[in-house]
Amino acid sequence: MMSNRRSFVRKLGAGVTGLLSLGGLSAAIQSSTSPSRRPKLRITDVQTAFVRALHVRITTDQGVFGDGEGVDAVSGGASIVSGFRPALIGQDPLNVDALFERIRTSGIFAGAQAGQYVAALSAVEIALWDLAGKALGLPIYQLLGGKMRDQVRIYCDSATNNRNDPKAKEWIAQIIDLGFTAAKIDIDDGRDPARFDRVNWTANNAEIDHMIDKVAFMRESLPAGIDLAVDMHGRYDLGTAKRVARLLEPFRLLWLEEPVPPENVDAMRDVRESCHVPICAGENLFLRHGFRELLEKRAVDIVMPDIQKCGGLLEARKIADMAHTYYVPMAPHCQASPIGMMASCHVLAAIPNALVLEWHWGHPAPRMQQWKVYVKEGEIIQKGFVTVPDRPGIGLELDEEAVKRMLRPGAAWFAPKTS
Ligand code: MG
Repeated sequence: MMSNRRSFVRKLGAGVTGLLSLGGLSAAIQSSTSPSRRPKLRITDVQTAFVRALHVRITTDQGVFGDGEGVDAVSGGASIVSGFRPALIGQDPLNVDALFERIRTSGIFAGAQAGQYVAALSAVEIALWDLAGKALGLPIYQLLGGKMRDQVRIYCDSATNNRNDPKAKEWIAQIIDLGFTAAKIDIDDGRDPARFDRVNWTANNAEIDHMIDKVAFMRESLPAGIDLAVDMHGRYDLGTAKRVARLLEPFRLLWLEEPVPPENVDAMRDVRESCHVPICAGENLFLRHGFRELLEKRAVDIVMPDIQKCGGLLEARKIADMAHTYYVPMAPHCQASPIGMMASCHVLAAIPNALVLEWHWGHPAPRMQQWKVYVKEGEIIQKGFVTVPDRPGIGLELDEEAVKRMLRPGAAWFAPKTS
């Protein structure tokens, strides 16, 4: 058997040599434009722009560049990114995780555990992945382990939650017409007229009734096939959270989100153990380290990192993998532009335990229009799903002229240096 195989290989070799000499074959390989034979890339600049969020652009000595985005904790992001420049300029951008770790560990005394430091680093990390994908000619999901699914399920953050809202019917019809299979509402209300105290977050019976009625109204307005999630924004005390969670049990929610503030994992676990509603949290946690205790203490049914804030794409993949060992799915928070949202979709395409991704721009009409013109590819959500593109990197291109018009007055567009 073995000798037969050897003789077959010898014959094959003779045939190939007959068609093309070994020298010719070698020359053909050498002259091919295989990206893996590229000369080494070097980072030449790291630029920022602040539109609705912090955008980071990393440029190289070969013209190829990458775009990333950070959200929420980014009001000082441009300045923080400027501080990362010495760790990036002149480096090979394809060593994404090494650059990430270098910046993260060098900031241990500068707040690198959470907050603005990590959100700014997230934007840089995502820009590096976009750049790496473009340089190698591959979509990011391919660099994160390959594709598990072609489409990522999206849920719509509802613009209404209230039967007394004169626009409620219009907004709910929009969720249905756009084809979403899941929606989310907020039920925390600091301006509830029944509230006695502007500081204390113990809800009284009337407030709780208002919260439950919002869920009842949405549940009776949406078709049964559209899942409903509910967010309490981490505002309430433990007793209120438990009471609300128990009262929400009949609604078969997709999840109840941050019923208590995120810092006390034991309190979150107490809520989870007190009810049968799936508990979801994580948008205010950072890095895989921030999710360890949440998972170890079985405090949630679903993890919700914000990928543009928690550390970026590979960090989100690491969080997802850690959650997967607890049989916990991931449903990332997302209020990014189409650039950040599509970057998140590459992660969700590549992990086994992807549940659903947030879409946050469904509120007033002008924001909807901004969403649609943000990238040259136009609308990326079709019937409640995003198809992950096979183009290199994130696979979207900012419509720079359109986005520049959204800049805050006086803000620079990808300023080379920030103070
Ligand atoms: Mg939330």
